[in-house]
Amino acid sequence: MPIENATLPFDAATASAAYQNALQVIESVEPTVAGAIRSELADQRSSLKLIASENYASPAVLLTMGTWLSDKYAEGTIGHRFYAACQNIDTVEQAAVDHATALFGAPHAYVQPHSGIDANLVAFWAILAQRIELPALENAGAKHVNDLSEADWQQLRRALGDQRALGMSLDAGGHLTHGFRPNISGKMFHQSSYGTDEKTGLLDYEKVRATAKEFRPLILIAGYSAYPRKINFATMREIADEVGAVLMVDMAHFAGLVAGKVFTGDYDPVPHAHVTTTTTHKSLRGPRGGMVLCQPEFADSVDRGCPMVLGGPLGHVMAAKAVALAEARQPAFQTYAQAVADNAVTLAEGLMKRGVRLVTNGTENHLALLDVTSFGLTGRQAESALLDSGIVTNRNAIPRDPNGAWYTSGVRIGTPALTSRGFGAEEFDRVAELIVDVLTATSPNAAASGGASKAKYAIADGVAGKTHSAADEMLAANPLYPGLDLG
Ligand code: PLP
Repeated sequence: MPIENATLPFDAATASAAYQNALQVIESVEPTVAGAIRSELADQRSSLKLIASENYASPAVLLTMGTWLSDKYAEGTIGHRFYAACQNIDTVEQAAVDHATALFGAPHAYVQPHSGIDANLVAFWAILAQRIELPALENAGAKHVNDLSEADWQQLRRALGDQRALGMSLDAGGHLTHGFRPNISGKMFHQSSYGTDEKTGLLDYEKVRATAKEFRPLILIAGYSAYPRKINFATMREIADEVGAVLMVDMAHFAGLVAGKVFTGDYDPVPHAHVTTTTTHKSLRGPRGGMVLCQPEFADSVDRGCPMVLGGPLGHVMAAKAVALAEARQPAFQTYAQAVADNAVTLAEGLMKRGVRLVTNGTENHLALLDVTSFGLTGRQAESALLDSGIVTNRNAIPRDPNGAWYTSGVRIGTPALTSRGFGAEEFDRVAELIVDVLTATSPNAAASGGASKAKYAIADGVAGKTHSAADEMLAANPLYPGLDLG
């Protein structure tokens, strides 16, 4: 029977039988891999997972990926493939598209991107294809950049070199794919960034407007990996329109809050952005993958993601996207998404009332960013001490971080995963207490052997063990995949 009131619903007996049988098959060929699969579930069950970008997908989503849909090549689009016998891939891709357009109210959805980075790359090329001016090209009548001659391409390459993208700076919470150098986006575009207000840590829309007017980007990018507030996308669109830019929103982190109707009106990116990209595996709780939603003007170009920048679509993952999106269309997902946001507020308030400084003094989404400098720690030291105590987080730069992007001064935490386990207000307040106990008991320890001093630390005797036990108690009361028995 499905478990009542579970935030992550599934039938335990059926799922147990499915996994036990699957593991037997895998074990007979490669026991090491079967062992790692068992071990990963045990590890995930036994830690307080606060990584803001991670979640637990349902057994239905996970099982969908282990199928022969993986074996099919299906380059092209639905009903228009470069391979024969793609009817079943057509079916699952269409199902994912239908669920995505209905769930997000989007005119068009492209569900082939293999990851968030791929979704952004598809979006960049689609925007370039639609908006770049081609008057001097010999084949100027071509409908699409893919149809151009080699001579045209040479000219295009020169034109591409002049294009500009404006996104949120990395230390304010932006993502590498928003035009930063280690990513291809930083090589494709001249990049400039907008930050956050020095005092409040909040996005200053008038500064974004002023920067956009001066920089005149082709693409204004909104979205983040570590900004703990919602963004007014109506205002961002107004700014984009004022400077003739395309508004691209990367909602990878908060797609679950959009799907669950926590972010609506001005805070829902889909009606305001020309192009919206996302991952499907974070707050949306689907399989690891990406997706692009767009206005009709960009649909044709977005659909050319394969072969422009993508290889053959992953049929098994598109099918799992369809299953996850179907789950997200259920009323229970809205309850889940609201709980993710409410729990983030409880966690943030629990930390602040115990003296922790949070970037922006709070949260309006699924994540919070702790400034751990008041504990005398780097983000790296704090992350390691928390991990020793059974609490999984990740270190993250804070705005104008004195310790840089590697050691950092911050720790990012999020509520999607533990909310999927059924954690509520009481549990998240206790999590805040445990975090503060560990950080208070941790000190830099330059004398420790090995590694750089910004990574060395010591935890007062007994604290890690005591925290682990308290975490274990909470985890046992809110089991991951309750009743799922691998045999
Ligand atoms: N965009 C944003 C805002 C992200 O936070 C991330 C991943 O952390 C990505 C894109 C990239 O997603 P993926 O790891 O699936 O390529």
